[in-house]
Amino acid sequence: MLKYFRPNVLLSDLTTFAVGGPALWLSSPVSAQELKETLEFAKAENLPFYPVGAGSNILASDRGFKGIIIKYSAAEISFAEDGGNILATAQAGASWDALVQTTVERNLAGLECLSGIPGNVGAVPIQNVGAYGQEVSNTIESVEVFDTEKLETLHLPASACEFAYRNSRFKRDWRGRYIVASVTFRLHPHGAPNMRYQDIERFFSDKIRMNPQWRPNLSEVRQAVLKVRRSKSMLYDPDNPNHRCAGSFYLNPIVSRHIAEGLAREYSDMPIFPCEQKDKLKLSAAWLIEHAGFTKGYKFKRAGLSSDHVLALINTGRASAQEILELSEQIIAKVNSKFSISLVPEPNLLGF
Ligand SMILES: Cc1cc2nc3c(=O)[nH]c(=O)nc-3n(C[C@H](O)[C@H](O)[C@H](O)COP(=O)(O)OP(=O)(O)OC[C@H]3O[C@@H](n4cnc5c(N)ncnc54)[C@H](O)[C@@H]3O)c2cc1C
Repeated sequence: MLKYFRPNVLLSDLTTFAVGGPALWLSSPVSAQELKETLEFAKAENLPFYPVGAGSNILASDRGFKGIIIKYSAAEISFAEDGGNILATAQAGASWDALVQTTVERNLAGLECLSGIPGNVGAVPIQNVGAYGQEVSNTIESVEVFDTEKLETLHLPASACEFAYRNSRFKRDWRGRYIVASVTFRLHPHGAPNMRYQDIERFFSDKIRMNPQWRPNLSEVRQAVLKVRRSKSMLYDPDNPNHRCAGSFYLNPIVSRHIAEGLAREYSDMPIFPCEQKDKLKLSAAWLIEHAGFTKGYKFKRAGLSSDHVLALINTGRASAQEILELSEQIIAKVNSKFSISLVPEPNLLGF
């Protein structure tokens, strides 16, 4: 067997939810040639395959996966000057937060608000990762992928990926077609940090009130984001009892202006945000869940809600994937019956 293949690997060991049965094989290739060999093996053995990074956005089935988990593990990061900007290229297996930290240390603006998001670089284009007023689509220049049908590498410009709120073609018509090999970001040397998000603005408001000319630098914004994330258990920290999760479990619902305005008339304190689509508005999934009667720390069997963040479903220790899904169904049903809004889960289901 190929040296980068391991048989019978538990998905619970490959995912931050820490649930999931065995996969037949784990392949950890580090080159296009090894990726090609892995896919040729899958074809010869007639086995399905599924790419993973750090498993921080996956809920894996208790039955496991009768196929090959492909964890592309090349992890180099390089920088090149281009027309006054810096192009940072990171291979799929690089740690996302290590990349963000390096760019901030080099005084490159564009990724600072995405500090502390668990996972690897290869996954960030899939759902157009975002937080605190930034999304990776704001800076992605191109994505290098391995075509699993033609067994060749190609470069996709960002425009081809059709990025949207926690979405891209990788989640739609390209699902299963490409394995991300590297991502290139266009970053701005000495650029000002992004301060568009309320929690971050609030973090610095006292200092700015005392000295209206003062603005935080990239490193100070990164530290603020890490602090805010820690207070919500939104950093992956094995010492935190809320850590077995996939971050926010639901997308913020995007609804027509008409529906949002109807809800706002009934619930005057309901948060409503603008979104990219002009005729639509974004609701807060966390607000809907709390107002449907769930509280932080709520428990159901061995699953539950984070004690710091009502939007994070957690495995309290030995939960099954089934228990997490049952809790999710309860939440979806209650929110639907109270507000007629259907919450959509964010994590990717594997092996169901
Ligand atoms: C505590 C916590 C906080 C979080 N906060 C945020 C947040 O603020 N914003 C946010 O957007 N997300 C957040 N997440 C979700 C998650 O961290 C991100 O989605 C992250 O990008 C997933 O990276 P990963 O390497 O773990 O991917 P995985 O979970 O391994 O995979 C996620 C998806 O990407 C696919 N994939 C992975 N690698 C590749 C590849 N090389 N090629 C093709 N497909 C691939 C997988 O098949 C799967 O469908 C959070 C998760 C946790 C646990």
